[in-house]
Amino acid sequence: MKILLVEDSRALAAVISARLNSFGHDVVLAENGKVAVEVFNEAAPDLILMDIDMPVMNGFEATSRIRAFETSNKWAWTPILFLTASDTPDNLVTAIEAGADDFLSKSVPEPVLHAKMKAMARIAALRHRLSMANQKLYEQASRDGLTGLFNRRHMDMQTDVVWEEAQREHQPFAVLMLDIDNFKKFNDHYGHQAGDECLRNIADALSNVVNAANEQGTTQGAFVARYGGEEFAVVIPRASPEAYESIANSIIENIHNLRIPHERNADWGIVTVSIGGERLDLPGNKIATIFRTADTRLYQAKEKGRNRAELRGN
Ligand SMILES: [Mg+2]
Repeated sequence: MKILLVEDSRALAAVISARLNSFGHDVVLAENGKVAVEVFNEAAPDLILMDIDMPVMNGFEATSRIRAFETSNKWAWTPILFLTASDTPDNLVTAIEAGADDFLSKSVPEPVLHAKMKAMARIAALRHRLSMANQKLYEQASRDGLTGLFNRRHMDMQTDVVWEEAQREHQPFAVLMLDIDNFKKFNDHYGHQAGDECLRNIADALSNVVNAANEQGTTQGAFVARYGGEEFAVVIPRASPEAYESIANSIIENIHNLRIPHERNADWGIVTVSIGGERLDLPGNKIATIFRTADTRLYQAKEKGRNRAELRGN
């Protein structure tokens, strides 16, 4: 394990370090609580051994501060074991209240210290596995299984966040709604497996366009999601008129260039998409309004012959 040893007495620190090294652990030393708090994130220890009485910042304060860091990730938990000369009931209670997991006297027999550390390491490993599993679950819950894009649920959550930000900072905001032209006919003609493959290819093309725009700085934090069925949405925070139009045009063009055969798609003979969009210089209305307008324009794009983008009102 990597152990952060917080101890102001150099002599004691040397003795404890040597002992921990002999157990096979790596030791990072902090000479008081303040130093411990400062090195905690970078050191990322598996376990902390904390003294109470230290100059500058004592062990209770350092423990509270370290626990405060961890609240950002509710599964993060580094075991903190107090190792102190003054093992009074009051100190034990204060240490646990501050966020310590256990409390031992410095005169504790070596095998007891060793055993306690083992128990702490087990808990830390479990927390770590939970944290990983939790992250994976979160990732799965936010993605569409077929295309790997954000799903509708995640899109709605993320849109609320960026919408509020745009309102607060008086930044423009744009949404594109798009739909694969004659997709039902595609499925009827080529089968659902080919339909799934088509959706995946379209999703990849959309991701490529949006990622490229973000990387080139044309947009900041634009994202694409599968809205449902053969519908997709692109959310573009801080959208300049140029970015708004260039993303829509790139999407039409890139999907056209995929040249996925689609005999039943009117004159085109290949898979195409239609887009409806709305961009606001100042987001004022409710978020639902912007999606509704984009959706209305999507229908206009369909009526006007498909394979096109309708981006503004007449
Ligand atoms: Mg001390």
